[in-house]
Amino acid sequence: MKVIVIGAGLGGLTLAQGLRRTGIDVAVYERDGALGRAQGVSLHIDDRGVTALRGCLPSAHAAMIDATMGGLREQTLSVSEVDGACAVVDTEPSGARPGRQAHRPLLRAILLTGLENVVRFEAEFTRFERRPDGTVRACFADGSTDTADVLVGADGIGSAVRRQYLPQAQVVDTGRRMLMGATSLCAVTGLPGLIGNNPAVARIRDTTMVMGALRFTSPPTVARQRFLPALRLGAVTGIEDYLMWALPGPAENLPRTFQQIVDEAWSEMTSTLRIGMIPPIPAWPAGQVTVLGDAVHLAPGFGGNLAMQDAHRLCSALIEADRGQRDLLDAIGSYEAAMQNSVQVKASA
Ligand SMILES: Cc1cc2nc3c(=O)[nH]c(=O)nc-3n(C[C@H](O)[C@H](O)[C@H](O)COP(=O)(O)OP(=O)(O)OC[C@H]3O[C@@H](n4cnc5c(N)ncnc54)[C@H](O)[C@@H]3O)c2cc1C
Repeated sequence: MKVIVIGAGLGGLTLAQGLRRTGIDVAVYERDGALGRAQGVSLHIDDRGVTALRGCLPSAHAAMIDATMGGLREQTLSVSEVDGACAVVDTEPSGARPGRQAHRPLLRAILLTGLENVVRFEAEFTRFERRPDGTVRACFADGSTDTADVLVGADGIGSAVRRQYLPQAQVVDTGRRMLMGATSLCAVTGLPGLIGNNPAVARIRDTTMVMGALRFTSPPTVARQRFLPALRLGAVTGIEDYLMWALPGPAENLPRTFQQIVDEAWSEMTSTLRIGMIPPIPAWPAGQVTVLGDAVHLAPGFGGNLAMQDAHRLCSALIEADRGQRDLLDAIGSYEAAMQNSVQVKASA
């Protein structure tokens, strides 16, 4: 069996690692260059992401991720000013599932390790054609093509695969915007010590800032040496502990504590995020084209976990089909049913 994956993001790379491990021929096509675009600084990885990564990645890769994530985040803290000083005023079970924080550029570099001959960068997918022999041909902006038994759209929110395959799935702009950034822990006093590893919602006067600290469990350079020397050296150098933060409201007239965090932030890691959603669509008949992750569902704050979970499920289904234990379309259909079910369960929870 040959599988083409469009998009070298979290979902596409997790899938490619899992397929490659079992010897299935896989080719990944990525629109961006090898270093990609900044897509957020850190990710909260919960049990879904951890299970998927352990299920798809070689053990050295999984150990490298485990060694470099932050400490366990079990609850969400509410922080407020009390007598002029910040204090934790409440704790509640985490709004997100408990998990740990991963440094996103490092995670992506780990996912790419070992796939050097599998991923083609600067290859923008434009459309696919179904061929009479049952295979699928993928066409790229530079005029090149590739053909496989299965085509997977793991190409994120603007998915060109989804646009052609499931035009009924539409991205809706919720109108919500968030300024997000990261600031070295050395530049922030008080708050990081107060919140430890937990995410916190800090409210000072009428302004809210959501934040979480990433303190690497082991220094990434040391972990690379121990677990994954094949990892690109540049992925582990110059990384330090930091505070990741988001301002859901306008970044104006901020309280001094918040202003200091914003002023000291790394400019290349600060950006305004538009929050979109894809309303769930009715099930569709399974075919040799399928989709995963943000290409088919958006979940602010846990979309990465869902993308990796999709990748793991799809990987298991394709392995069963490759081994002749299951009909290919039946395997893809049950992956899609499970994927849609998780999204609907979460949407109604
Ligand atoms: C600031 C921020 C913070 C976040 N925090 C969290 C978090 O804490 N936890 C969590 O679970 N999720 C989080 N998310 C969501 C998470 O980042 C996404 O849900 C996740 O990246 C989706 O993975 P994916 O593989 O589906 O898509 P992506 O990771 O977006 O990958 C898609 C890839 O496809 C490529 N591509 C697109 N079009 C084409 C084309 N035509 N041809 C070839 N390649 C193409 C893109 O360049 C990209 O590399 C966060 C998102 C942001 C922006």
